[in-house]
Amino acid sequence: MGTRGREIIESLGIKIPELVTLLNKAFADEWLAYYQYWLGAKVAVGMPREAVVAELIQHSNDELRHAGMIADRIIQLGGTPLLEPKEWYDFTNCGYDKPDNHDVRILLDQNIKGEQCAINVYKNIMDYTKDKDSVTYEMALQIMTDEIEHEEDLEAIKEDIQLMLGKK
Ligand code: FE
Ligand code: FE
Ligand code: MG
Repeated sequence: MGTRGREIIESLGIKIPELVTLLNKAFADEWLAYYQYWLGAKVAVGMPREAVVAELIQHSNDELRHAGMIADRIIQLGGTPLLEPKEWYDFTNCGYDKPDNHDVRILLDQNIKGEQCAINVYKNIMDYTKDKDSVTYEMALQIMTDEIEHEEDLEAIKEDIQLMLGKK
């Protein structure tokens, strides 16, 4: 986006450096979520392992795609995506939940918590940009739609496990 695009957003009350920081925080979340899913898929044990692994791999791919969408938007706004992985920990909203317990049920719970945090992050970006920066707003909406689906998919597997174990 060129100068005029940025002028329009600023005239509507958006502070671009503030928006870039919000986006970099989400960018850090996406990388950490990507890695948490990617590694979770490697270490997962328990039933139904294959269904959980397939879901975790699919979600890790989505998180990496989200990181790419956010990086592109940061650059369009004239900002720079975080250049140092070390900064992910300084910027993250949702943190990183180390998959040290490999039980699929624990992994599911950790990732459900992460998705719920991510949904809040994109809700905040949507609130910040609504009626002011439609491009970022639409991007946040698209990503949030994926995060809602992720949460739903993980909760559905969790319910299947509970049914399988006769707990519900
Ligand atoms: Fe994501
Ligand atoms: Fe997600
Ligand atoms: Mg899914």
